[in-house]
Amino acid sequence: MGIQKENGSLEDLIAKAGGCAVVDGGFATQLEKHGAAINDSIWSAVCLIKDPDLIKRVHLEYLEAGADILVTSSYQATIPGFISKGLSIEESESLLKKSVKLAVEARDKFWDAKKRISGHGYNRALVAASIGSYGAYLADGSEYSGCYGPSVGLAKLKDFHRRRLQVLVEASPDLLAFETIPNKLEAQACVELLEEENVQIPSWICFSSVDGENAPSGESFKECLDLINSSNKVSSVGINCAPPHFIQGLVQKFKELTEKIIVVYPNSGEVWDGRAKRWQPSKCFDDDKFKLFATRWRDAGAKLIGGCCRTTPNTVRAISKVLKESPGR
Ligand SMILES: [Zn+2]
Repeated sequence: MGIQKENGSLEDLIAKAGGCAVVDGGFATQLEKHGAAINDSIWSAVCLIKDPDLIKRVHLEYLEAGADILVTSSYQATIPGFISKGLSIEESESLLKKSVKLAVEARDKFWDAKKRISGHGYNRALVAASIGSYGAYLADGSEYSGCYGPSVGLAKLKDFHRRRLQVLVEASPDLLAFETIPNKLEAQACVELLEEENVQIPSWICFSSVDGENAPSGESFKECLDLINSSNKVSSVGINCAPPHFIQGLVQKFKELTEKIIVVYPNSGEVWDGRAKRWQPSKCFDDDKFKLFATRWRDAGAKLIGGCCRTTPNTVRAISKVLKESPGR
């Protein structure tokens, strides 16, 4: 029954938000804006070590902008990644827990202040612990190609994800967010782990997409979603960190393939060069376009909408405002 109750909390939030809740936006982008140096193999996770207050500040900025769900700073935080920086296993695990703690503290602080004011228009946010794909840990761009090579099988992917999942679950986030999953095998690893570990916290599994049609590996979303549909541990499924112009078509596709809650949080449309580790300039999808498209994604069936890389609190403010102003059908 625990699962039902937890599932209810995500559904309650969506209902309270008027049928579509707002996920926060790019994390590293905002850390950089505040001067954090995150050009590192563990990317924004480096801030967990060097500047936890800044992480909290970014969470608060997204709450103020109208985010109903905060995604934690653990996307590229992994135990082997921290160990490669010279940390012990204990220190690594405590940093993972800290990523959840910082988001929970920011949420509680914000909500304690808001709930005293009537008609503030905010919802009590949920905290989703980010679990980046194996490719995100490799930091070689493979989360956008889906090519892990022949030596990476199901067992290896499960081994990679298991301990971090256990540690994050111990920190009691409201949700688990598997992000930028590039292929069916890794989705299977996540689904099987949730079962094996008997995880009671609802989760979402988000894929990236580089062609707007399929998972980055080239496998069809039908194959991937058929697998996820068979698990009641997964509440929600969707797309993150794909370009925004793919999203409407993908929401329509997912709507036909699953009964689960659909979540989308695209990047800004700029192109990440995973090898060079920088953003290639391209025609940017600005906040006004996000505003226009967020209602289309909602009308197509998405119930959780936000932004990923290169989106900012202004993007989230625009999404939140337009979704509140024009309630869904
Ligand atoms: Zn992203």
